[in-house]
Amino acid sequence: MTYKLKTYTLRNYKTIPQIENLSDEMIEAIEVVGRVLPFKTNNYVTEELIDWTRIDSDPMFTLTFPRREMLEKKHYNTIKRLLDQGADKATLDKKVHEIRMKLNPNPAGQEHNVPEMNNIKLKGVQHKYAETVLFFPSQGQTCHAYCSFCFRWPQFSGMSNLRFAMNEINLLSQYLLRNNKVTDVLFTGGDPMTMNTRILSTYINALLEPELKNIHTIRIGTKALSYWPYRFTKDKDSEELLKLFERVVKKGKNLAIQAHFSHPTELKTFAVQEAIKKIRTTGAQIRTQSPLLKNINDKPEIWAEMWRKQVDLGCIPYYMFVARDTGSKRYFELPLDKCWNVFRKAYRQVSGVCRTVRGPSMSCEPGKIQVLGVQEVKGEKVYVLRFLQGRDANWVNIPFFAKYDPKATWFDQLEPAFGEEKFFFEKGNEKTKVREFMLE
Ligand SMILES: *Cc1c(COP(=O)(O)O)cnc(C)c1O
Ligand code: SF4
Repeated sequence: MTYKLKTYTLRNYKTIPQIENLSDEMIEAIEVVGRVLPFKTNNYVTEELIDWTRIDSDPMFTLTFPRREMLEKKHYNTIKRLLDQGADKATLDKKVHEIRMKLNPNPAGQEHNVPEMNNIKLKGVQHKYAETVLFFPSQGQTCHAYCSFCFRWPQFSGMSNLRFAMNEINLLSQYLLRNNKVTDVLFTGGDPMTMNTRILSTYINALLEPELKNIHTIRIGTKALSYWPYRFTKDKDSEELLKLFERVVKKGKNLAIQAHFSHPTELKTFAVQEAIKKIRTTGAQIRTQSPLLKNINDKPEIWAEMWRKQVDLGCIPYYMFVARDTGSKRYFELPLDKCWNVFRKAYRQVSGVCRTVRGPSMSCEPGKIQVLGVQEVKGEKVYVLRFLQGRDANWVNIPFFAKYDPKATWFDQLEPAFGEEKFFFEKGNEKTKVREFMLE
C-alpha cells in the first residue's frame, strides 16, 4: 500500500488492477449507472477494504461502486440505449439530468435552512436546530467517495445551483455573535477533511476567538477515517492537523469528529486504528454515525459488532440513520419496521457503553424523527415516534403515533394513527414557523 492518494472515478477506474475480477455485466453497470450517480473511490479502499474475491456481495464494493439495481430498470435501459447508440454529449447530458431530477436531489427542504443576515443569504450555512449551525466551507465540498445514497450527491454531479458554499468565515463569525444560543458549529460538506490543514485552520481559528465564547463545541463530519485514514497519519500536513486539534482542545472547546462508519470492515485496518489513536491523543472525541443500508449493514450483528469495536477503539456510537429519500435509495432502503428491528436487536446485545447510539432516525423537514418502535394500542398497530431534533424545539421528545404501514420507508409515507387528521406538530400554524431564533 502506498500512502499516495490515487482517486478513481468513471474516467479512470479501469486502471484499478483488481478490476479484471469484474464480469462484463458489472462493468456495463458501472458505465451506465455511473453516468447518473457519480462515483469515486481511492487506492486505500480498493486495496485495503474491498474483498475482491466476493465482489458480488462485498459491502465495501457496493458502498463505492455503482451496481445495476441502483437505477430503475427503465432509467437504466434509457441510458444504456443512448450509450450503445453513441449518442452525443448534449443528448446524454439532457437525459441524465432528467433522471437525476427524479431522484429527489435536494431532500428535506434544505433550502429552508439557509439563514439571512442584513438581507444577505448565508449560502454556506444551514441553521435548522437552535443550538447547532452547519457550515459548508467552500473548499471542503468534495468527498473521498460519492455515496449514491447520500443527499450530497447532486453537488458532486455538477448540479451546481444546489451546491452550498461560502468563503466568508467572517460572515459566519458575525452570525454566531448575533445568535448566542448557538453552541455548536458542525463543519460539513462534502467532507471538510478533504481540505488541507492550512485552510481548515483558518476556519477553525476564527471560531477560537475569545468573543465567540458561546461556541462550546466544534464538530467535523467526515468519512476520512474510513476512506483515507492517512489524512491523520501520513499526509504531509497530518501533523499540523493533529496540532490544530490539540489547540482547539487546549482552548477549552470540545472537538468532536463525527465519523461515518457503515461497516465493521472499515474499523479493522491498522491504518484506521492508528488514525483513531492519534486523534484521541489530541483530546478530540470521535462520534460515529451511519445510515442503515440494505445490502451493506442490514443485520443486527453487524451493528453490534461495529458499536463494540468502536467503543473498544475509544469512539462513541452516536446515530443510526434511516437511508435518506434520495439518489439510489431504492437499492438501499428498508421498511421502517425492519430498521427498528435491526436497531433493537443490535442494541439489546451490547452493553450500556455502546448505548449512546440513537436511532433509527430520519432527517426530515420537521426534524430528526426516531422510530421508537411498533406497538399495538387498543387493537391498532402503530409506529411510536419522537423528535430527536425538531425545527421547533418544543416538539422534541414527545412520543407520537403513526398508523403502522409495513411498506413505509420514510416519514412522508406515514399517516397519523387513531383516525387523527394531522400529527401534533402540524396542528395550529399551517406553515411551519420559520425558526424564531433566527435573525431578522
Ligand atoms: C443532524 C443535524 C444537526 C446536528 O444534530 P445533533 O443531534 O446535535 O447531532 C444539525 N443540523 C442539521 C440540519 C442536522 O440535520
Ligand atoms: S458525505 Fe459521507 S455519505 Fe455523503 S458522499 Fe461523502 S462520504 Fe458518502
